[in-house]
Amino acid sequence: MKRFVRSLLVSSALTVLTFTPVHAEIDVPALKAAIEKSFEADYPKLDALYKDLHAHPELAFQEVKTAARLAAEMRALGFEVTEKVGRTGLVAIYNNGDGPTIMVRTELDALPMEEKTGLDYASKAKAVSFGKETFVAHSCGHDIHMANWVGTAKMLVGLKDQWKGTLMFIAQPAEEIVQGARAMLEDGLFTRFKKPDFAFALHAGGGPYGNVTYRVGVGSSNVDGLFIRFRGRGGHGAMPQFTIDPVMIAARFIVDVQTVVSREKDPTEFAVVTIGAIQSGTVGNIIPDEATLQGTIRTFKPAVRAKLVAGIERVARAAAAMSDAPAPDIRIAEGTKAVINDPAVVATAEKALKAAFGDKLRLTPANTTSEDFSEFAGAGVPSMMFNIGVYGPEQWLAASKSGTPLPGNHSPLFAPVPKPTIQTGITAMTLAVLGAFDQHARGK
Ligand SMILES: [Zn+2]
Ligand SMILES: [Zn+2]
Repeated sequence: MKRFVRSLLVSSALTVLTFTPVHAEIDVPALKAAIEKSFEADYPKLDALYKDLHAHPELAFQEVKTAARLAAEMRALGFEVTEKVGRTGLVAIYNNGDGPTIMVRTELDALPMEEKTGLDYASKAKAVSFGKETFVAHSCGHDIHMANWVGTAKMLVGLKDQWKGTLMFIAQPAEEIVQGARAMLEDGLFTRFKKPDFAFALHAGGGPYGNVTYRVGVGSSNVDGLFIRFRGRGGHGAMPQFTIDPVMIAARFIVDVQTVVSREKDPTEFAVVTIGAIQSGTVGNIIPDEATLQGTIRTFKPAVRAKLVAGIERVARAAAAMSDAPAPDIRIAEGTKAVINDPAVVATAEKALKAAFGDKLRLTPANTTSEDFSEFAGAGVPSMMFNIGVYGPEQWLAASKSGTPLPGNHSPLFAPVPKPTIQTGITAMTLAVLGAFDQHARGK
């Protein structure tokens, strides 16, 4: 108890708490109260950090200032920081005796879009993406994750008498283009540094703050990019008999490809095919000579993915063949795998989170979105990703009743309520990590 009080003295909140020693199950209610008190003391700095990150977002692999800011924060907490891992990523290590290595990951990057929240700390930033100038905004909440990451690191250092082992806090670039995790792994994340025993990450989502949601097993979807070029023969819009119309081929394909999902795949299995971009032609009276399409393919299971890919390719070739056009160019770009939450890691975290959050901890269906946090599990690290809510509970309830949902991730209006959101994240992540250290210390 004495050691614990001294280590969290900054919060001056722990005078009446008693704690069980390291080798017994963690005392969640006491720890939660201590974390919340300490959070109150830490929050002004975290608020400033969050709003600064929010106002100055950077795109994938351009997160130079963001990474430098986080590196400075972590060094100030006593972490040993290595920068430029996987281009703009960083690794922060804190050794605290013999024990497992636990990884906590945040993302660094923002999105190429304009923020329209009207908040006084809204982003007005611009950057160049694929040769074009664009607005940049933290509309996925990665700024929340970064504030949470720094806050959790501070909390765990403050609680270092409660655990033994190594903290491996990584800040990953380029999550939005699902390339950053792989870039860090290819740059020796698990060879230059120790391969962690467990890994955790969280994502800010659309629900009410104070809530934590999670899944066992599949947590998010596998993503593949789809690129198709249909080639036709251009000519006059009034003389279609001399042309092969690629707009017609593309239109047929866009409709027919949905039958791969609705008629060929097992209806009880998840899959989505979305064609999100189509480019062809310039004016109404010219039949263009090609049409290009871009889409996304989401699945949970490899067998379903294989079925979809085969079906999409077949439908594309058939659409071209119907018009007697040349075979189309089809490219399926592998994105990232589904996140798989390890049942044992989840079971340990679940115990701590249940004691802290009660019925505000809920099991939910897997996200249909994708996440390259899956790369770390793919590299053999048992891991867990969970979600935290971001809006006021009343605001959330009113929106649910009205039938108009509040703006979610990637909306220009996405606007988490910072303090309670970050508090939920830090409390949940700190307890999940402490639970994992404790479980390991007691020999599982
Ligand atoms: Zn996102
Ligand atoms: Zn995200």
